[in-house]
Amino acid sequence: VFQLSVPLNFLGSVYRELRQSLLDMETLFNLQKVNVAVKDIPNAPPLVLKGGEIKFENVTFGYHKDRPILKNVSFTIPAGKKTAIVGPSGCGKSTILRLLFRFYDVDSGRILIDGQDIRHVSIESLRRAIGVVPQDTPLFNNTIEHNIRYGRIDASEEEILAVSKRAKIHETIEKFPAGYQTMVGERGMMISGGEKQRLAMARVLLKDPELLFFDEATSALDTHTEQALMSNITSILKEKQRTSVFVAHRLRTIFDADQIIVLENGTVAESPGTHDSLVNAGGVYSRLWRAQETTPVVEKALGDEIVEQ
Ligand code: ATP
Repeated sequence: VFQLSVPLNFLGSVYRELRQSLLDMETLFNLQKVNVAVKDIPNAPPLVLKGGEIKFENVTFGYHKDRPILKNVSFTIPAGKKTAIVGPSGCGKSTILRLLFRFYDVDSGRILIDGQDIRHVSIESLRRAIGVVPQDTPLFNNTIEHNIRYGRIDASEEEILAVSKRAKIHETIEKFPAGYQTMVGERGMMISGGEKQRLAMARVLLKDPELLFFDEATSALDTHTEQALMSNITSILKEKQRTSVFVAHRLRTIFDADQIIVLENGTVAESPGTHDSLVNAGGVYSRLWRAQETTPVVEKALGDEIVEQ
């Protein structure tokens, strides 16, 4: 009985983790209102990754049919490169992420990953391929270690330590009362928005998915920590040739992107390019850049509040 109960307990805990991960995603995307019509087609095959290129082809989508948020949007996010999506608040940046996760299906057009329409592959394989670092990460009422391990539950302690260092959170954790065993969440220690964001970074580095999304993921960090962290993350992504997408308000966090996509009023506002080419083009991006450059408060965003630490 004892011998049997061990693996069963283990499976039970894996199951709980999986359920929790679903809950996590639900909190993450505020899914209470989600349309449950999004389902696998019968015998949906898994997504087959071949580098991780993402293509939006003439995508139109609105949460309500009479109010389209994305209007005939087309762009390509190249495999293994860093892409940034910028644009004013409410222009649909997070919506792109929700569509990619298939929390909703497009009204028309299609989204392809490595040539496969995401409606034709299993949702489970799709979501497994994508990691997200959101602006506000929900924490579990558990230890710091558990909260990081959740990125990949079979990770070793060494691996947890390594990702924490790269996410610039290790030294902070060491100063907590019980280090990695410190309880956080509602019944534990309160941690700041910036600490949460770094935990989320460590978590996604541990998960190590093929496609990574950073949705305003460093908005609560001070400039110095943000730069140190971004330089670590950028070198990891380059080294592993991961496809990454950064949704950003503060343009200085993405000026080194291989490609910047500018959204405005539900459409792609100008041909995507690098920071330099877009500044030279003198279009929407160059106006956003000039506005931020000349803004006296360095942290000033494109019209949004910065999350308090
Ligand atoms: P921000 O930069 O402020 O995060 P965003 O560009 O990411 O904004 P989205 O979150 O994609 O913008 O929202 C685009 C539009 O869709 C907004 O007008 C928003 O009010 C609307 N919207 C977002 N989620 C829903 C929803 N679940 N139901 C209805 N409307 C929604």
